Amino acid sequence: MTQRYCYFCYICVMEVIQTYKYKLKPTTQQANLLDNWIGTCRFVYNLALDCKIQSYQKGVRLSKYDLMKQLPGLKEVEWIQSVPSQSLQNVIERLDVAYQKFFSGGGFPKWAKRGEYNSILFKSVSQTATGFVLPKVGQLKVFKDRMPTGKLKTAIIIKESNGYFMCVTFGIESKNLYPTDENQVVGIDMGIAHFLTDSKGCYVENPKYTKKYQARLRVKNRSLARKKKGSGRFKKTKSELSRLHSKIANVRKDFSHKVSLKYVKENTLIVCEDLKVRNMIKFGNLSKSIADVSWSGFFDKLSYKSKLYEKRFVQVNPKFTSQKCNSCGHIAKENRLNQANFHCVSCGHQQNADFNAAKNILGEGIALNRQREAIACA
Ligand SMILES: [Zn+2]
Repeated sequence: MTQRYCYFCYICVMEVIQTYKYKLKPTTQQANLLDNWIGTCRFVYNLALDCKIQSYQKGVRLSKYDLMKQLPGLKEVEWIQSVPSQSLQNVIERLDVAYQKFFSGGGFPKWAKRGEYNSILFKSVSQTATGFVLPKVGQLKVFKDRMPTGKLKTAIIIKESNGYFMCVTFGIESKNLYPTDENQVVGIDMGIAHFLTDSKGCYVENPKYTKKYQARLRVKNRSLARKKKGSGRFKKTKSELSRLHSKIANVRKDFSHKVSLKYVKENTLIVCEDLKVRNMIKFGNLSKSIADVSWSGFFDKLSYKSKLYEKRFVQVNPKFTSQKCNSCGHIAKENRLNQANFHCVSCGHQQNADFNAAKNILGEGIALNRQREAIACA
């Protein structure tokens, strides 16, 4: 029997929310309808933003519920009427998220521009053998490679440079598909020289995608700069460039998926450092490399795959993990001779620095996991 932990431990989840992206095959009629609706949503977004700004100037603060209450009135307009109410409500929710970001230090919400505001959310969606059914749009066929069996939650239709896509969220029940021994545990140290080093002494090479694609990107960028803005050739090169960017993103994601699944399959407990990756990208000098290998995406995948397959994923404080001796516990800056080697000044223990760090990370993770289990069982 699988053991399930309490809600407070953040480890167990009965149902895992997972999003799948499909390419759509809409008919011309459906494409037109979706275009219209996305345009309407953009209009409503700007209208709501304007409403908020104006009422604020008059000293009134409108909440998202105040705005939602006004939606039925809008529905009397003929071309707004056809858009599903839940999609319009989501527009207000989106604006609310933009405001929350602003209140927590982000920029002020921007006006939704044509070409930038390019998606619409549906809350009632059902599944058929060849695709999905949306209210008023009807049956939408998809290029289907995988169809999970789970509870359908929402669908977002996105218009991209190379067609229409649909992101469908499913609530999938977690299952221990890859049972492993309780003692199969691993600590992972993310690196620059290698993508990662684990506490078993293995390392994964860094994928240098941008290097491989940089030459192609440079050629395309230069060729774009030579062309007249707005011309047919300009548009063609621009779409080629955006396809190249999405290709790079896909290759990156694929790598991240494969490596994370490998670790989740083979282990019961996976421990990583809790790096404030975003801050490192913003302020650190390692910015390019970290952005390149996209650590945060990797952690996200480890996290949701662990939930899905009932494994445990823990992130520990990275403080001292690289300066602590794994053999005697002595912490000193001097332990680190250089980037690659660890030599303890107290006990003389010598090891590859990343390997030493990965073992420290694992130790911290096991301790933290025990604490959480104790809380969960109490
Ligand atoms: Zn030592």
